[in-house]
Amino acid sequence: MAQYDEVILIVEDDPQIRNFLCYTLENESFKYFSTGTAQGALNTLVSEQIDLIILDLGLPDFDGLKVIEKVREWSDMPIIIVSARDQDKEKANALDMGADDYLTKPFSATELLARIRVAFRHYFKNPTTQYQTEAQVGELKIDFEKRVVSLSGEIIHTTPMEYKLLSLFFKNTGKVLTTNYLLKEIWGTAYGNDTQALRTMMAGLRRKIEEKPAQPKYIITEIGVGYRLIEDK
Ligand code: CA
Repeated sequence: MAQYDEVILIVEDDPQIRNFLCYTLENESFKYFSTGTAQGALNTLVSEQIDLIILDLGLPDFDGLKVIEKVREWSDMPIIIVSARDQDKEKANALDMGADDYLTKPFSATELLARIRVAFRHYFKNPTTQYQTEAQVGELKIDFEKRVVSLSGEIIHTTPMEYKLLSLFFKNTGKVLTTNYLLKEIWGTAYGNDTQALRTMMAGLRRKIEEKPAQPKYIITEIGVGYRLIEDK
């Protein structure tokens, strides 16, 4: 008996990785379809009811980015990118185009399932939880009504920009937020290119919230892509 009702589409041309993905999902009793081409993906999306896509970017017929573009014309279903280690720019592009998350090869079954869980949770978020008044990760807590951040019960003095940044992360716990996205959200399009300003602000914020700012445990750096607020296990 299937444990989940959600149906996942696997798009990966490397047979070894595809088998691994299928095997992992099967073990968790997910229903899934799998294909090795972008065209195969688009065909399956038309013929089947799919709830989430695991998408390799380097496909033999056309670019995985094109699949994201097409899907986003009619659906906001979660899309998780699978990419090679040296594809930082592609990963960031895919996220900016509307992908929800990514996995870097090689990845473990645990990582894969964690990403799927986060993606579904954000997708099926109960509308009432969008109006939650506070959120917490580990000892770090934010109160959206009072606009106050605290660590182990102690109030942390944040600048308005830092607060804005933190609240973005808390609204997207477990999700990677790209540098591009953060710049646009914090500074708007006019100043949307100043990655150094974001790095500086992140360093300042980490000094306030992290015990060891050089080894952050709350907001981790996703090299070449952006940042992610880790979720409680
Ligand atoms: Ca590939």
